Amino acid sequence: MGVILVFFQFLSIWILLLVVLVYLLFLLLVSTNVQWNFFVKAYNSNSRIETREIALTFDDGPVENTLQILALLKKFDMKASFFCIGKHIQENPAIFQQIIDEGHMIGNHTFSHTRKMGFLRTQKIIEEINHCNDIAFEIGGIRLKTFRPPFGIINPKVMRALHITGHQVIGWNVRSYDAVLNSKNFILKRIIKNIKPGDVILLHDNNLLTVEILEQLLLFLQTNNYRSVRVDNLFQIDAYS
Ligand SMILES: [Zn+2]
Repeated sequence: MGVILVFFQFLSIWILLLVVLVYLLFLLLVSTNVQWNFFVKAYNSNSRIETREIALTFDDGPVENTLQILALLKKFDMKASFFCIGKHIQENPAIFQQIIDEGHMIGNHTFSHTRKMGFLRTQKIIEEINHCNDIAFEIGGIRLKTFRPPFGIINPKVMRALHITGHQVIGWNVRSYDAVLNSKNFILKRIIKNIKPGDVILLHDNNLLTVEILEQLLLFLQTNNYRSVRVDNLFQIDAYS
């Protein structure tokens, strides 16, 4: 009898541990997949759109590479959205201004894009978002209303911070994995394989590979009668206040 009792006690500890583990895994998954809309309703794609429009989005600039991206967008007469990091705007104010001048949209991507994003307190997240907004206003004269979370992380603290700052979250539904993969063909195929009107494509302007595949991607869009537009136009929302 005693042996059976010990066995069941032992078993219940393992079941408890398993439940905790599954719960933590669940939290991790819903916090890092902005497109699931678990904590915040994000704009991830517009499946109801009736035109052949998609939105190319570039995160983590402005950096030197951004200039090549701007030149290609101009060559193909397409518009895009740039989710900028505040400290990069400070470092490259002229490139930042050029993005605005050429008619593309700017969104908030925090001041420092810290790797500790998932562990920050609500107040610190608010500071990160506001600091980026302040710099964008100082340099470009625009008050950003859209936000893309670094690493796609939306946890309850980010959710509370966004309630206070009032930013609209822009996610994506096509992830290129340009920041982690190193095969140009693979990244390009991943993007164009299932492309459809209303898609929001996640790219990074600080990645040299992105610049190298962009011309082929734009050529594909052009020959298939797609147009890249700003996300505020894709969703009919306001980019600035
Ligand atoms: Zn980022």
